[in-house]
Amino acid sequence: MGVIAGDFPAVVVDRDADKKQSVSLARLTETDLMEGDVTVRVTHSSVNYKDGLAVTGKLPVVRRWPMVPGVDFTGEVVESRSPDFAVGDKVILNGWGVGEVHLGGWSRYARVKSDWLIRLPDGLTGADAMALGTAGYTAMLSLMAIEKHGLSPADGPAVITGAAGGVGSVAVMLFARAGYQVVATTGRPEEADYLKSLGAAEIVERSELSGPAKPLAKERWATGVDNVGSTTLANVLSMTKADGAIAACGNAGGMELPSSVAPFILRGVSLLGINSVSVPRAKREIAWTRLAAEIDRGKLAAMTHTVPLDEAIDRGRAIADGRIRGRVVIEVG
Ligand code: NDP
Repeated sequence: MGVIAGDFPAVVVDRDADKKQSVSLARLTETDLMEGDVTVRVTHSSVNYKDGLAVTGKLPVVRRWPMVPGVDFTGEVVESRSPDFAVGDKVILNGWGVGEVHLGGWSRYARVKSDWLIRLPDGLTGADAMALGTAGYTAMLSLMAIEKHGLSPADGPAVITGAAGGVGSVAVMLFARAGYQVVATTGRPEEADYLKSLGAAEIVERSELSGPAKPLAKERWATGVDNVGSTTLANVLSMTKADGAIAACGNAGGMELPSSVAPFILRGVSLLGINSVSVPRAKREIAWTRLAAEIDRGKLAAMTHTVPLDEAIDRGRAIADGRIRGRVVIEVG
């Protein structure tokens, strides 16, 4: 007899013999869970762009069927064969293929490898951790990469593209708190007041950056975070000041990068790649500890919407359509 009594709810993405995808709120049992040395009772998960892709099948992020979406979760350990974690420990997981090749967080229970887990930092509740989620963690990794590159607010403004989304909203907060003059670009000008409340100094309409990019354009910012890719990132690069650096973390506008080498070879601009999925534990812990210390809880609450598990599928479809503002937490347990 296992540690989980009876069945429990989970969102399941499956496909039939013709590869036609379906998604439903189903019930699983302990035997459905995958290999791992730690079992977690999930209290909160969240809605990330990748979960939207999993739910809609818009891009092939799911590579094991059936799959439970949810690239991040927080909860309490209920069973452990690892010396690193004991029953009752509060943990966070994000990345490592969870929600893609390993059953994810949109489920009352998850069984995972202990190497993928970190402890919930002091001062952060499970709900706050998932209000930040993979999106907030990625925004922090971007800030850390820019700091490591040697840039600071004295070098010039920071641009954040796709600013009203999850990564964007947290990035606006973090960069403003770090002292940057934040230029927020958005396709939703009606969210200007929201973005200013998070710390944006200037709002730029998305269309200004969505046409074909010139090799070099007027220098507007020293650094920033791009969530959009495609022509947006190409324009951002062409407008970056000499010796500046842009953290590339997203593809909400497309995977391609129709740029030229001009910003790199004529202005010494750097493109910093951000991959949140497989980051070593020590760096993960630094990022989460910094988030716990640097995030304004009032602003975080204002950008967060909480839903029960049975609304996760609908919210997943909404994020794939670019219709989510800020972050959505899923209250699972
Ligand atoms: P969201 O959907 O919350 O945010 C994306 C934002 O991008 C939207 O809110 C919108 O902002 C903008 N956007 C959407 N579609 C388009 C479009 N066609 N053209 C231009 N802008 C568009 O997603 P997340 O914040 O969760 O993720 C943002 C990106 O970062 C995604 O591509 C995601 O895959 C990626 N990501 C990468 C990670 C990594 O490890 N590198 C980790 C986490 C996320 P607005 O309305 O303000 O214009």
